[in-house]
Parts: sequence; structure tokens; C-alpha cells
Amino acid sequence: MPTIAITGSASGIGAATAEELRRSGAGIIGVDLRDAEVIADLSTPEGREQAVDGVLSRCDGVLDGFVACAGLGPQVDDPGLIAGVNYFGTVALLDGLFPALRRGKDPAAVVVSSVASTHVTWDENPLAPLVQSGDEPEVDAVDAAVAAAGEYRGQYAYAASKNALTVAVRRRVPEWGAAGVRVNTVAPGSVETPLLRAGEADPRYGQAIREFVAPIPRHGRPEEVASLIAYLMSPRAGFVHGAQFVIDGGVDALLRPSRF
Ligand code: NAD
Repeated sequence: MPTIAITGSASGIGAATAEELRRSGAGIIGVDLRDAEVIADLSTPEGREQAVDGVLSRCDGVLDGFVACAGLGPQVDDPGLIAGVNYFGTVALLDGLFPALRRGKDPAAVVVSSVASTHVTWDENPLAPLVQSGDEPEVDAVDAAVAAAGEYRGQYAYAASKNALTVAVRRRVPEWGAAGVRVNTVAPGSVETPLLRAGEADPRYGQAIREFVAPIPRHGRPEEVASLIAYLMSPRAGFVHGAQFVIDGGVDALLRPSRF
């Protein structure tokens, strides 16, 4: 029975993924703020350490899979917190669990990024200069980096954190591939979860989310993203490594048909 750690396992895409992988026979080590095997706050260095230690002690240092779903949405009014969970929290677990994944059977990881990762380029990503050193910057530095977006700074921090996350995964592809550990990202569009509902309820973003119609005219379901993740985690995806899979009902192709 493969052992798979999943962050954000208490809700939305993470909960649906935990359920799907459990059904297929995996043992799940969920990591979340609540309702999980390992309770940890990925916004802080101490919480990330607690999460890595908690997973490692439960899997005896051997992990067959890791799915990073924990994340905050653009409506959160604290750019430092968005970057802290979406980028630093995820990267700390990827790196902290890598040695255990190397010892696993057919090991694989999937990181949930977002279509928003393509809304800024790395060259123009305001977080790029701040994440290069690997050390987490002061909250004030993150605030200042996205301040130009005014009341939409949460959206800017969100897109920047997801762009930086996809870049971080792609940069690990040579080392992880050589170690026999596959890693890919998925980039969802609007998916029906508490995170999306909080965005819909937000006065800044709600109307745009509600009125936008995708080529497939509905929001995605968490189970649909979970089934893509389950495929990427399985040996059937044995040659899939370093890729980003958009799952957005056709929005990316609608908005930029000639850029891919
Ligand atoms: P969700 O809010 O349902 O689930 C997110 C989970 O992350 C929650 O269980 C929450 O407790 C956990 N989490 C948040 N902060 C944490 C912290 N500090 N420490 C530990 N756990 C923490 O949201 P979701 O929509 O299922 O989001 C899952 C992932 O998908 C996120 O990374 C999100 O950015 C991404 N995503 C979602 C959508 C969407 O439309 N729902 C679109 C693109 C990307």
C-alpha cells in the first residue's frame, strides 16, 4: 500500500484527492490546520518543520507520494501570508520530504499551482527577487513588492506566489528526475471549493468570478482535479515529469490561444 502525504487535506481539492487516493488503496497522511493526521500551520517556519517531522515520523522516513494542495486565495488581505503558505510553505515541504520520497516505490509528487501562475511572467514577478535566496523575506518586503496593485494586491500576490511555485517545481525537475522522483504541477481554473466561494463573496473579485463564463460554462469540481492528480501520481504517468497541466474548462485557450 503506497503512503502519500497531502497538504490541505481537510477541504476542497485536497480532501477530494485524499478520498480518491484512499479509494485506490493508498495510506494517506493529511496535513492541515485542522481535521488531519498532522496538524501544522504552513505559514510559519516552525509549522513547516512540525509538518515535515510529523509526516516523516508517520511514514518511517519512506514516502511514495506527496500532493501539495494547501493554499490561500486572492481575497486574503495579507500578501505576506499568501506568499508564506502558497510558496514558502509548499517549497519547504517539497524539499523536506524529498529524501523520504527518494526511498519510496515509484515515487511522485504533484503541486497544485493555478492558472494564475501564467498571469505574471517570472521576469516581471515581484516575488522573484525576494525568493531567489531561499530565505523567507520580511512581510513588509512582500507588502511593498505588490503595493502597486492597490486594493488588488491579494490577486497580485496570489498570481506571483503561484508563478514562483511553478518555477520552483520546474527548477527541481533535473535533480528529482535523476533521483527517480517525478514531480508535476496542476493549474486549476475556477473550482467549486470554499476558497472559490470566499472569492465570490469578496466585493473586489466577486462580480468578475460570477459573471465570467468559461468555454465549459461551469466551475470545475474538486473530484475532477483529484482525478487528474491521481493519474499523475500513478505509475501510468511514468514518463510525465516537469509538466504543468491546466484544468480550467478551456479558459487559458480562450484567453491566449496562440501562447502556450
Ligand atoms: P480550500 O480552501 O478548500 O482548501 C485549502 C486547504 O488549505 C484548507 O483545508 C486549509 O485549511 C489549508 N490551509 C490554508 N492555510 C494553511 C496553513 N497555513 N497551513 C496548513 N494548511 C492550510 O481551497 P481549494 O480550492 O481546495 O485550494 C487547494 C489549492 O488549489 C490551493 O493551493 C489553491 O490555491 C489552488 N487553486 C484553487 C482554485 C479554486 O478555484 N478553488 C483555483 C486554482 C488553484
